[in-house]
Amino acid sequence: MIAVLAGDGIGPEITVQAVRVLQAVAQIEGFTLEFEEALVGGAAYDATGHPLPPETLDLCKRSDAVLFGAVGGPKWDTVQPASMRPEVGALLPLRKELGLFANLRPAILYPALAEASALRADIVRDGLDILVVRELTGGMYFGSPKGRSEDGLSAVDTCRYSVGEIDRIARVAFEAASRRGKKLCSVDKANVLETSRLWREVVCQVAEDYPDVELTHMLVDNCAMQLVREPRQFDVIVTENMFGDILSDEAAMLTGSLGMLPSASLGSGKAGLFEPIHGTAPDIAGKDLANPLATILSAALLLRYSLGKESAAQRIERAVKATLDAGHRTADIAAAGSKTIGTAEMADHVLNALRATA
Ligand code: NAD
Repeated sequence: MIAVLAGDGIGPEITVQAVRVLQAVAQIEGFTLEFEEALVGGAAYDATGHPLPPETLDLCKRSDAVLFGAVGGPKWDTVQPASMRPEVGALLPLRKELGLFANLRPAILYPALAEASALRADIVRDGLDILVVRELTGGMYFGSPKGRSEDGLSAVDTCRYSVGEIDRIARVAFEAASRRGKKLCSVDKANVLETSRLWREVVCQVAEDYPDVELTHMLVDNCAMQLVREPRQFDVIVTENMFGDILSDEAAMLTGSLGMLPSASLGSGKAGLFEPIHGTAPDIAGKDLANPLATILSAALLLRYSLGKESAAQRIERAVKATLDAGHRTADIAAAGSKTIGTAEMADHVLNALRATA
C-alpha cells in the first residue's frame, strides 16, 4: 500500500502525475500497486482542524511507503498556535512518528540541463550524480541541554551522537553506495569536534562490513569547497544532521533546478517518505505550470528503497532522461524564449518514454 499525501499548492497537481507514472511502470513490469489518499497540511487543517489528522497518520503507519507532495502556503502562515501550521504540524511529526532518521537527497544534473547549473560548463558538461545521505534526528538540532541562560546573556545547543545513531545512518549510506558507484565520503569536523571523532570511528567500523565500498573522510569545510570545485569526485556523501542540512542544499543547487530534485526519508525498516525537495509553489499553483519531474523521480526512489523494485525505478529514471534529451521543458527548466509545456503534458512525455522502452 502506498499512502498518497498530496498536500497544498502544486502538491495535488504533481502527485497525481507521479501516481500515473507508478501505475504505468507497475503494469510494464508486471506487479500491482495499491494507493490510498489522505489529507495533510493546510488542506487537512481546513477540513479537520489539524494538519496531520489521526487517520492520515494511521494510514502512513500501515503503508509500505508515503508519496508526499508539499504542504503550506500563505493562507496558513498565520495559523495559531504555530504548531498547527502545516510544515511544523504535519511534516516534522510525520518524520518522527515514522522513525525516519535518514534523509537521502540525490543531486542529479542531466547533461541536457547543464546550462541551468551555477557552475562553469566545463565542470558539469557530462552531468552530475551525487547522493547526500543526511542523519535526520540527532546532533545539534535535538541535543539537550538547549536554551538560554536565565539572564538571557548566553545560549547553548548541544551536539550529541550515540554509537547506535551513527552506525545505523552509516549502514544506510554504505548500502546506497554499494548499489551505485561504490564510493562513500564521510564528512565530519574530526579535527575539532568529539562527536565527529566518534562519527569517524564508527563509520570505519561499519566499513568492515562493506569491503566493496571505497571509504574516504573529508572535513566539512573542505567538502563545501570541493562540491563547487570538483563535484564529480563524489558518489555518496554521508554526514551528520547540521552539516547535511547545509551540504545537501549546496549540492542540490549545483543542479540549478528545484523542480527536478527528489528526496527520500528512511527509517530502520523499508518504509519511507518520498517527496520533492521544493515546496508548494503558491505562485504557480493551479496553473498547470509546475514541473512534475521531482515528484516522479521521488516515486522512482520509493520503488527502489521501500518496494525493492530497482528495475522499475531505473525505468522511470531513464524515461525522465529521455524526456529531457528530447527537449521537453516546463517553464522552470526552459531556456529563455524557448517553447514550454505544462505539468500534465510533461508527465505524458515521461509515460510515452516509459512505454517506448517497455
Ligand atoms: P517553493 O519551493 O514552493 O518555491 C520556490 C520557487 O520555485 C517558486 O518561484 C516556485 O514557483 C518555484 N518552484 C518550486 N517548485 C516548482 C516546480 N515543481 N515547478 C516549477 N517551479 C517550482 O518555496 P517557497 O516559495 O519558499 O515556499 C512556498 C511554501 O511551501 C511555503 O509555505 C513553504 O513553507 C512551503 N514549503 C513546503 C515544503 C514541504 O512541504 N516539504 C518544503 C519547502 C517549502
